[in-house]
Amino acid sequence: MNHRLLDFKEWLKQKNIDSAFITSTENVFYLSGFHSDPHERLLGVAVFQDAEPFLLCPSLDVHDAKASGWEYEIIGCSDTDNPWEQLEKNIKKRVNHINKFALEKEHVNVERYEQLINRFNGAQFIAAEEKLRQLRLIKDDKEKEILKKAAEFADFAVQVGVNEIQEGKTELDIIAAIEYELKKKGISEMSFATMVLTGANAASPHGNPGLTKIKKGDLVLFDLGVVYKGYCSDITRTVAYDHVNDEQEKIYNIVLKAEVEAVKAIKPGITAKELDNIARNIISEAGYGDFFPHRLGHGLGIGVHEYPSITNTNELIIQEGMVFTVEPGIYVPNIAGVRIEDDVFVTKNGVDILTSYPKELQIIK
Ligand code: MN
Ligand code: MN
Repeated sequence: MNHRLLDFKEWLKQKNIDSAFITSTENVFYLSGFHSDPHERLLGVAVFQDAEPFLLCPSLDVHDAKASGWEYEIIGCSDTDNPWEQLEKNIKKRVNHINKFALEKEHVNVERYEQLINRFNGAQFIAAEEKLRQLRLIKDDKEKEILKKAAEFADFAVQVGVNEIQEGKTELDIIAAIEYELKKKGISEMSFATMVLTGANAASPHGNPGLTKIKKGDLVLFDLGVVYKGYCSDITRTVAYDHVNDEQEKIYNIVLKAEVEAVKAIKPGITAKELDNIARNIISEAGYGDFFPHRLGHGLGIGVHEYPSITNTNELIIQEGMVFTVEPGIYVPNIAGVRIEDDVFVTKNGVDILTSYPKELQIIK
C-alpha cells in the first residue's frame, strides 16, 4: 500500500474515524493515483482503519482507473445506478457501524451531505481537509522531479510569449501562441487561465486578458503555468517592450531585489512570516508598500494554490520538501505593474529554484 494511504489510515485510527470518503479531484488523485474530473457524477475514494479501500467512479471511467495503478476494488456506477446506494452498500460491507465519517467539508455540497446523513444516520462528520493538506505539504523526490518538469514547460511558455511580442498584437494573440506551442509538446491543460497583460492592464494583479494591443513603452506581464502529470507550475515574468521610463525601471528593480532576497533566505527553519517580511520590507522601504497588496507566495503541487501560505502572519516553519511560489509585485495604476514569480523546492540546506527563465529586466526590441 502506498505511504499516502497508509498515513491517511493512521490518521483514521488516531481519530477513531470509521470511514472516510474523499471526493475532490485533487485528493482522489493524491490518494489513489487516478486523476479525473467526474463533472456532476460521483467519484471518491473510501478509506477505512483496517478494511481495504475502494474507489467509486462512473462506470465509463473504470478502465482508466484500473490503468492508473489503483490496486483495490473499483465500483463503477452507470448513469442509471444510484451511486449513493452503491456507496452505502460497499461501506457497510466493510464496517458494521459508522460513528465517525470523514469527508471534505469544503467540497461536499448540501445535496451530497443530505445523501450521507440519510444513509449514515447518526454519524458525526469530520473534516479531512487539514490532514490531507498536511500530507500534501511535503513533497517526495518523485513529486519534485515532476514539478521541475512542469516548471521547465512554464519557462518555455514565457520564452514563446516574449518572442511573440510585437506592436499591434493583442494579449489574446500572445496567449493563443503560447498555448498552441505547449499543446504541440503534449501539454493539454494550463494550471489556470493564462495571463498576458500589457500597459495599464499589468497594474491589476489578477487582470483579464483581452484585445488590448501591445505598444512601445509597455510593460508586458506573463503569469502562467502548466499541468504536467497532475502537478502544476506557476511563473510570472514582466518584460518591457522597446523602452522603459525611469519609474518603470525603478519599480522593476525593487521587485527583482525583493524576489531575489526572499528566495536567497529560504532554508529549513525560517518561518513563512520571515520570508514574506524580507520582500515586504524591501518594497516598503522603497516607498511602494501600499502597492504590494498580496502575500509573498503559496504552496504548489497537485493544486496551483495549496499549503503553505507565505504570509506575514504565518508562523509556519519552513521544512525540507515544501514547494511554494515567491512572487512579490508592485502595481501602480497607470504607471506600472511588475511581478516576478518563481517556484521553489526547499532542500536540506537551502533551496532549489524550479523555474529558471531570466529575471533581469529585458527590453524587447
Ligand atoms: Mn502566478
Ligand atoms: Mn502564484
